[in-house]
Amino acid sequence: MDKPDRKALLEGLRAELRERIQRYEDHRHRISGVLDKDLEDQATQAQNDEVVDGLEEEATEELAQVERALARINAQLGERCEKCGDPIEAGRLEALPYTTRCKNCVAS
Ligand SMILES: [Zn+2]
Repeated sequence: MDKPDRKALLEGLRAELRERIQRYEDHRHRISGVLDKDLEDQATQAQNDEVVDGLEEEATEELAQVERALARINAQLGERCEKCGDPIEAGRLEALPYTTRCKNCVAS
């Protein structure tokens, strides 16, 4: 079986996340420019803003984790747990390409 190119996969994921975060930023800036809305619209808008903020936060965290995994791959440590130094299970790397910890260390 061919080993999946984890680095390429993570780089793709990083590009995707950056684009997503950019879209959330655009959304926020557009909203702050709109002032002449009635109250009901503002309430809906505020709700949307909360959703978008949550999504942006999630994407930002995910991006940080992807960057961390890429940095470790570049340092030739991509397949080792950042905590205990043991190899990370292959199945785990496949399922979660951005992970930097082995199964045992994730919970702690
Ligand atoms: Zn570990």
